[in-house]
Amino acid sequence: MPELPEVENVKKGLKELVINKQIKYVTVLWGNIVKDPIVETFISEIKGQRIITIERRGKFLLFVLDDYVLISHLRMEGKFRVEQSSVPLTKHTHIIFTLDTGEELRYLDVRKFGRMSLVDKNRVSLHPSLASLGPEPVCEELTVEKIRLFLSNKKRSIKSCLLDQKMVAGIGNIYADEILFASGIHPARIGESLTSTEISKLHHDIIDIMEKAVASGGTTIRTYSNAYGREGSFQQNLKVYGKAGTACVNCQTPINKIKIAQRGTHFCPNCQI
Ligand SMILES: [Zn+2]
Repeated sequence: MPELPEVENVKKGLKELVINKQIKYVTVLWGNIVKDPIVETFISEIKGQRIITIERRGKFLLFVLDDYVLISHLRMEGKFRVEQSSVPLTKHTHIIFTLDTGEELRYLDVRKFGRMSLVDKNRVSLHPSLASLGPEPVCEELTVEKIRLFLSNKKRSIKSCLLDQKMVAGIGNIYADEILFASGIHPARIGESLTSTEISKLHHDIIDIMEKAVASGGTTIRTYSNAYGREGSFQQNLKVYGKAGTACVNCQTPINKIKIAQRGTHFCPNCQI
């Protein structure tokens, strides 16, 4: 699943292709992708809207239109492509935005898990997808105090807390494992058990790793290699994710993989006690 750095990469690529273009009309081939409003309203309201810019919040792409914001969550396999209308559709194309240039912004999704919402511009921050999101992992928004407050009553694992979009927006399985390794914190530790020194370290590593991953264009893993516009290179910096059985870069102990919060979780049993 694309996490914040990969969605940021998609956003940058799409901005170069569709900004200032007008959506002449939209064709919905698989209605379940449209979460709200109902498909008929989605189609009638988006008609004629211009794409002013594209923003990102957590793992959500936000297409800012004249009067609306199109919120898109790619979930597992969703991706956008801009093609000339003469290029044949693949069977995984579910929504087609026909642009005034004659090109088509196509939404493809093998698993059909992705979702879109068309929301009134001045109510976008209140939309359920975005309203409960925590701060972005940048120092202007994410403070040590906010993490400390969030963790103060959490009886579940720190891994689960990092995946919780209410603590920090945009972290998924890959970066949660990498952040905990950097901080030397065992992923099964209970959230409220972290010391203030550990919380400060965690805060630093969340921002540091997410910044580096964004700068590298995200992580491109074999199975996702076609999911984004451009391939990222952060996979070269991964220290534990996908490394089960290989030697820890710090201490040579084999990296362990267990299940925490229903997710495959990688850690060094020596560095993260
Ligand atoms: Zn180690």
